[in-house]
Amino acid sequence: MAVQAEKVLEKDEILELYLNTAGLGRGTHGVQAASKRYFNKDVSELNIAEAAVIAGITQRPSDLDPVVNPENNRERQLIILQKMYEQEKITEEEMTAAITEDVYSRIQVVNQEFEDNSDYTYFVDEAIRRVAADLELKGYLGNQATNLIYRGGLSIYITQDLGMQDILDASFANEENFPTFDDDYNAYLQFSMSVQKDEEVKHYYDEEVLQTDEEALAYMDQLKAEWVSEGDEILTENYLIIPQPQAAMVIMDYYTGHVKAMVSGRGDKIGNNIFDRTTQATRQPGSTFKILAAYLPAIDTMGFTLADVYDDVPITFNIPGSPPYTPRNWYGQRGTTTPNFWGLSTIREGIKWSMNLLAVNTIFDIGIDTGFEYLKDLGFTTLVEKEERNGQIFTDKVISLPLGGITDGVTLLELTTAYGAIANNGVYVEPIFYSKVLNHDGSILLLNEPETHTVMKETTSFLLTNAMEDVVRSGTGTPAKFDGMHIAGKTGTTSDAKDLAFIGFTPYYVAGIWMGHDQPEKMIHDKSYHKLMWKDVMSQVHTDLEDKEFPMAEGIIRRAICTESGLIPVEGLCDHDPRGSTIRSEYFVAGSQPTETCDVHVKAIICSVSGLLPTEFCPLETLEEKVFTARRVPLNPESWDPLDPPRIKDFEYELLLNQIEEHCNIHTDGLIPEIIFDENGNPIIVNPGTTPGSDTLELVPPIIIDEQ
Ligand SMILES: [Zn+2]
Ligand SMILES: [Zn+2]
Repeated sequence: MAVQAEKVLEKDEILELYLNTAGLGRGTHGVQAASKRYFNKDVSELNIAEAAVIAGITQRPSDLDPVVNPENNRERQLIILQKMYEQEKITEEEMTAAITEDVYSRIQVVNQEFEDNSDYTYFVDEAIRRVAADLELKGYLGNQATNLIYRGGLSIYITQDLGMQDILDASFANEENFPTFDDDYNAYLQFSMSVQKDEEVKHYYDEEVLQTDEEALAYMDQLKAEWVSEGDEILTENYLIIPQPQAAMVIMDYYTGHVKAMVSGRGDKIGNNIFDRTTQATRQPGSTFKILAAYLPAIDTMGFTLADVYDDVPITFNIPGSPPYTPRNWYGQRGTTTPNFWGLSTIREGIKWSMNLLAVNTIFDIGIDTGFEYLKDLGFTTLVEKEERNGQIFTDKVISLPLGGITDGVTLLELTTAYGAIANNGVYVEPIFYSKVLNHDGSILLLNEPETHTVMKETTSFLLTNAMEDVVRSGTGTPAKFDGMHIAGKTGTTSDAKDLAFIGFTPYYVAGIWMGHDQPEKMIHDKSYHKLMWKDVMSQVHTDLEDKEFPMAEGIIRRAICTESGLIPVEGLCDHDPRGSTIRSEYFVAGSQPTETCDVHVKAIICSVSGLLPTEFCPLETLEEKVFTARRVPLNPESWDPLDPPRIKDFEYELLLNQIEEHCNIHTDGLIPEIIFDENGNPIIVNPGTTPGSDTLELVPPIIIDEQ
C-alpha cells in the first residue's frame, strides 16, 4: 500500500494526509484535534515544545499519552527536540528554551478544563453536530466550522425545554424503570489495556456481555491474568460497564418541529459527541411500521376505511421473485391453546391489537411500492430500495415491510417524527434542535426553519389518530395510558423481541421511546418497561396542560357498521351474533361509508344434536335457530394440517360448508329436506311439501342505523 500511495501522491501530500488523520490519543485524529485537546489552541499557534509533545505521541498513543504518562512522553519529546537541533531545524537556544518549558502542567490544566466542560448532554451534542453540518452547507470547512462553534463566541439558541429534559433525565436515572437484575439485566463490558513487555508494548482489547457487574469485574480479572505476566508493567487500563438493555427517548413539538428533550442512553454518558441512540442508531421499527407502511397509504390513497375487514386466517403470499411468505401472529404461540388467528377483523382492530396478517394483507392489496413511497415521504432516510452488498441483493420493498424487520432499521428520531406528521394533521415537519445562531456581534449567522410538506390528507390523519387512541385506551399500548389527556400511539415489538418501541402523541407533543440491547438480543423481561417509562415522562410533561380532543377533520362522518363484514348492520342478524352484538360506530371520510348491508351474518336452523341441517325427523326440541357467520371465502378445515390445525378465534361461529350441505345423520328416517340458496347466497331449508322460505330462514330487511 505504501508503494501504491507513492505512485499517486507526492511526499508532501502523504505527510499532509498523515498529519490530518494520525491517531494522537484521547480520541483525537490529526494534529489539529490533538492541538485542541492538549493545548486548547490552533495547531498554527503551537510553540516548539508543544509541537514536540504531539509529535512524540505517534509511536504508542496510550503509552505516550502526555496526560496520564507525562514521563514517557517527556523522554520522546527530548529526543525529538535533540533531533530537530541536530538537523538544524531549530537553534540551540530554541532547544534549551523548549526543554526548560513546563508544558506538562499546562496540559494538566487544559485537560481538567476539558473534563469539566465535557458534560454536554446528548441534546447539546446533537445541536452542535447540526450547527456544524449547517455551517458546512454554507461553505465553511469542517475545521472552520468547529473553530467557529467552540471559539467564535457564537450564541446558539437550542429548542430544548429544560423542564422536560429534567423529567426525562430523572426517569432515565431511576433504575426501577428498567428490568431488574433477576429479570433481564446484562453488563456490557469493554476493557482495554496497554502492557509493557520487555522491549515492546502490547495493546489488548476485549468486549463481552455478562450477567452482572460482578461477573464483568471477575471477567476483567481473568483477562488481566491472561494479558499480564510477571515483570510486565501495566501502562494504561480502561474499562466501561454499560448497563443493558439500553434505552433512548425523544420528545418533540410536532407543530414547530422543535425537539424538546432527548436522552440517548442509560447510565453515565462518557465523553462528548459519542454515538447517539436516538439520532444515529438504526434499529428495527417493528410493528410501528404497520401504520406507516400499510394503513396510512391504504386509507390515504387507496380508498380503505377503518371498517374494512380482513380474515385473519392462515395465508401464504406468493410474490414473483420472492420465496413464499407465510406470516405469523404474535398471539397464540406454539404450545399454547389460545387462538393463533383471530378471524374476521376490521382494520381498526388490526391497529388496536397490532395484528400482523392484517397489515401484510393490506400492503399486498395496495402494493408494496405505494407503502415504500409513503415511508420515504415521511422522512425515513435509511430505507434500502435495492442494493447489492457482498454479492447479495438487499431491498426493503418486501411484503413483510409493515412488520418492520428491514435491512438497516430506522432511527428513533425519524420514527418519532413520522408519527408527528400524523399528529400534525398530515403535515411532516423536520425535527430541529436549534432555532438560530448569532455571531459574537449579535448578527444572524444561521436561521433554522424546519422543512415541511404535506404527506397525507387531514382526514387520514384523523382516522389513524382515532384508531390509535384505541391502542392506548384498551389495546397493546395500555401501559402507556395516563389520566387527563387524550393519547394516541402504536407499539412496536419486533418478532424476535430484540427491539421494543412505543411512539405516542397527545394534542401537544409526540414522543418516542426505544429499549433494547446495544448488541441486539432477544429480551426476556416483561415487555412493558418502555411503555411505563413513556407514561412516567409524559404524564409529568402534561401535568399543567389542559386535556382536549384531537381535532376532528372536515368531511368526517359517523356510521354504524357490523364488524364482521364492515357493512351496514342488519337487525336480527348482526345484533344477534352469539358473541353479542357486532354493531359498532365507525368514522368515515364522507362518501367512503358502506352502502351495502352485512353479507356475512346468516341465520340458520340446525339440529343441535348433529350440528347439521335438520331433517324432518329431527325432534322439534333439537332444532335451534342461530346466527352464524358465513365468510365470503369459506374456511376449509379439510385442508388444515390435522396435527397442527390453526386455532381460529371465531371458528365456532362459522357456518361451515358441511353444515349447509349435509343433513342430520342421526335423525335420518324417510325423506330429507332440500336446501337452496337465496340471491345473497344464504341457505334456505325447504322441507318436503313446503315452499321456500315459508318455515325456516327468513331474511330480515336491513335496518340502517345512522348515528350522525
Ligand atoms: Zn353482520
Ligand atoms: Zn337431527
